[in-house]
Amino acid sequence: MLIVDVHAHMDFDEYNKDLDKVIEENKKAGVAVIINNGVTVDSNRKVLELAKKYDIIKPALGIYPVHAAQMKEEDFDAELDFISKQDIIAIGEVGLDYLKGDDNPHGDKYKDKMRQCFEKFIRLAEKKNIPIIVHSRKAELDVIEMLESSNLKKDKIIMHCFMGRKHLVKRILNNGWSMSIPCIVNKLQQLQLIVEQAPMEQLLTETDSPYLSPYPDIKRNEPRFIIEALKKIAEIKKLDVEEVSKMIYMNYQNLF
Ligand SMILES: [Zn+2]
Repeated sequence: MLIVDVHAHMDFDEYNKDLDKVIEENKKAGVAVIINNGVTVDSNRKVLELAKKYDIIKPALGIYPVHAAQMKEEDFDAELDFISKQDIIAIGEVGLDYLKGDDNPHGDKYKDKMRQCFEKFIRLAEKKNIPIIVHSRKAELDVIEMLESSNLKKDKIIMHCFMGRKHLVKRILNNGWSMSIPCIVNKLQQLQLIVEQAPMEQLLTETDSPYLSPYPDIKRNEPRFIIEALKKIAEIKKLDVEEVSKMIYMNYQNLF
């Protein structure tokens, strides 16, 4: 089995105590690549450290949209400059998140700032000519429009755990962008519909570890649990699991 996880956060506290063991077990289970997405200034530093320490971890740097909108502009720009100088595989995690919550006041000014930050990350991905791994929540149309009006090539855009409407899924697929499917596709019909609609060449797999575990009795997710996504994709596409894992690995190699 060849397992690819294009969106994980192995730098989070959930793995503090036993990351060596986790990486070892994941390798044994067939995990070949984990793209670790950074979400804050500190997280980005940790991602670079992990990528140096573990051969299967590849670094993607970014700032989670909710955090980006709360940063001082000069701090954000300094981090952008830092990221521009790093040898990384992708920009991520970046995007827009309009979900109302305690840490997301959802005002128009706040949205504007979030869009400005995302725009700067899009420019950086264009300049570095590397893929961008995009988060979009309650902001799907804005995200799609911003990406469509950019100069990013279609094989440089990866929509992570996309939960937007069906016509937007169609628009993404028509644009030729990739969609990464999380393990919870084993239970969410909305994600199963994406797999149904998408050509195999546009599919990738991810966990969003430590979040979104596919098992009700295991809270902390791990890249090896992607086996559940592979099984579901194989079932929907009427293919062999082994075959699906090879195809997705090939997609990974073509994109990154
Ligand atoms: Zn994430």
